[in-house]
Amino acid sequence: MLDLAIIGGGPAGLTAGLYATRGGLQNVVMFEMGMPGGQITTSSEIENYPGQGNVMTGMELMDNWLEQCQKFGLKHEMNQVSSVVKVGETFKLTMVDGKEFEAKTVLMATGSVPRRAGIAGENEFFGRGVSTCATCDGFFYKGKEVAVIGGGDTALEEAVYLSKMCSKVYVVHRRDTYRAAPSTIEHMKKAENIEEVTNVTVEEVFGDASGVTGIKVKDKNTGDIRDLDVPGAFVFVGRDVLNEPLKQEDGSFLCDVNEQGEVIVDLRMRTSVPGLYAAGDIRIDAAKQVVCASGDGSTAAVNIIEYIG
Ligand code: FAD
Ligand code: NAP
Repeated sequence: MLDLAIIGGGPAGLTAGLYATRGGLQNVVMFEMGMPGGQITTSSEIENYPGQGNVMTGMELMDNWLEQCQKFGLKHEMNQVSSVVKVGETFKLTMVDGKEFEAKTVLMATGSVPRRAGIAGENEFFGRGVSTCATCDGFFYKGKEVAVIGGGDTALEEAVYLSKMCSKVYVVHRRDTYRAAPSTIEHMKKAENIEEVTNVTVEEVFGDASGVTGIKVKDKNTGDIRDLDVPGAFVFVGRDVLNEPLKQEDGSFLCDVNEQGEVIVDLRMRTSVPGLYAAGDIRIDAAKQVVCASGDGSTAAVNIIEYIG
């Protein structure tokens, strides 16, 4: 019987693990289906994590978080949790490989995944020119032209990153104002090889057997169609929360969620089910920042220790 099962090893889950073990919980396991560190490890630059004055990659920021947590006794199970159900006062977790665990408390810290834009050809060419990770795939387009679709922080930051290795980057956005932070917009506008293609819809990603060869965009005012002949299209149009483990056999959720599937919590990160907590990007009203996810993780752990006590 685990004291605490943490699902997800991003900033929220790792910080919860650190506080829970250091706070005296004996049997804490963090389940992570990929590499610990979470989505920030795909970021080419982070400059707003307090105390880290130098711009660094997400990977550099997360480098020693797991090691620090393990020092205090956090156990790491590399596995994907497929479901969580409540059995009496405790929880049963089932992994995709069929393994089962029992836990007194559970913290959902599963974050989110990149959303698809729903463009024709996007799925067909995914992994063959369509990507959602510039740090992973940018290198393939060294010296070539690429398109970045989206107008938020991720799109503009990653466009700047790509502009350093690609000959040209088209930033393709559906409006003529951006959602990204003013400093990020300013940064993007300074890059000489970025061309903004705004107020357009992306009609199609097209290509051939070799992969993507271009995208078709339509001006929303004039209706004019333009082909951008690029071998790479990076899609950054937001993220969807990963709440799969909370889905019950009858299709309902184990705890209350909002319309977007985000978990409803109170200020102690408690969900509607006693013993079940949620932290980070998965919860309602998340600021979607590393420092906030991390803060949520510590808040949850402090309250879980009190609950178990
Ligand atoms: P995540 O980081 O998403 O971690 C969740 C983890 O749970 C993942 O590792 C996932 O593999 C795991 N998981 C999910 N489901 C399961 C399951 N069923 N079983 C096991 N494991 C599971 N924030 C900033 O503060 N500054 C920035 O500069 C910044 N830049 C960003 C740039 C990019 C490209 C992106 C994508 C995000 C950026 N963010 C930035 C946002 C920040 O990364 C997130 O807010 C933060 O990572 C959220 O942390 P989290 O722990 O809630 O979730
Ligand atoms: P986001 O802020 O939701 O922005 C998504 C962008 O994609 C928006 O510009 C949106 O257009 C556009 N879009 C959405 N659906 C589309 C579609 N189907 N077709 C074309 N365009 C579409 O997502 P994000 O940039 O991934 O950021 C997610 C969160 O992480 C945000 O809270 C962000 O602040 C945070 N984050 C922070 C940092 C940082 O602190 N430095 C870095 C990265 C991310 P509209 O604008 O018209 O809606």
